[in-house]
Amino acid sequence: PKVWTPEWNDWCPGCGNFGIINAEQQAISELGLTPEDVVVVSGIGCSGKTPHFFRLPISGVHTLHGRALTFAIGIKLSNPELTVIVNAGDGDQLGIGAGHFVNAGRRNVDMLILLHDNGVYGLTKGQASPTLRRGEKTKSLPRPNINDNVNPIALAISSGYTFVARSYAYDVKHLKELIKAGVRHKGLALIDILQPCPTYNDIHTKEYYDKRVYKLDSDPNWDPVVRKPEEEGDKMAKAMLKSLEWGEKIPIGIFYQNELVPSYEERIAGNAQSYKQRNPSKVKIEDGGKLTTIIDDILKEKEV
Ligand code: SF4
Repeated sequence: PKVWTPEWNDWCPGCGNFGIINAEQQAISELGLTPEDVVVVSGIGCSGKTPHFFRLPISGVHTLHGRALTFAIGIKLSNPELTVIVNAGDGDQLGIGAGHFVNAGRRNVDMLILLHDNGVYGLTKGQASPTLRRGEKTKSLPRPNINDNVNPIALAISSGYTFVARSYAYDVKHLKELIKAGVRHKGLALIDILQPCPTYNDIHTKEYYDKRVYKLDSDPNWDPVVRKPEEEGDKMAKAMLKSLEWGEKIPIGIFYQNELVPSYEERIAGNAQSYKQRNPSKVKIEDGGKLTTIIDDILKEKEV
């Protein structure tokens, strides 16, 4: 039997997941976070193994296909002091989990999603996933893909995500800095990570991306941050337009950031003071036979 230790790993040699996990661990260390206060939540797929392969002693939950966000939201709402990072693939988040992906945006929960975007279902031998473009034929497909792709950046912005960015798995330094920015951001953050899968995606390879990716902040006029409510529509429209750029040049960096939108935790606290005053995960559920749950307090506040 395999022994699961922090040293054990079965990703294929050269997989972009190595860059992602390295950037993630460096970011956690440089942010000075206590690893025990970080929860890494994953779905199903090659990226689902991320929590197992951490060398830092984080808490990890390897959940169900498409449901990583539901677990992550529950964890964050029950203990708002935790830093919650979701690692999930494009098939997991934009296929079976697409409903959760959209509705998480409406809530703006204060956490970070790292989308391992490789265009294939790598764990099950390379079928086309939702970000593979129409007409592309990776090596496991008998014919070119007949479906249009999902644009994760545009979908996230239109769903209410307040930090939307893209990075590249082999540019660990760039990804690390974006992860730090995404963790610091107040609200729901998405980083769409271009992740080569050398085993099954023979189109979007390291060579393909190396000559195409460029950094948005190399343009001194690019300013994705909303600082006043009246800027929101304009910045959103510019980010959506930029998200359509794909081909000879592929932009990476922050597309859109807006901290003026209240997080879900702030919205709940606005409805129920007890949520703000008492961390739900640290409240005893009973004391001397008397219920002491925060739910009890919230219900009392709601009594009319
Ligand atoms: Fe990485 Fe692809 Fe191998 Fe999965 S199949 S571990 S995504 S290279």
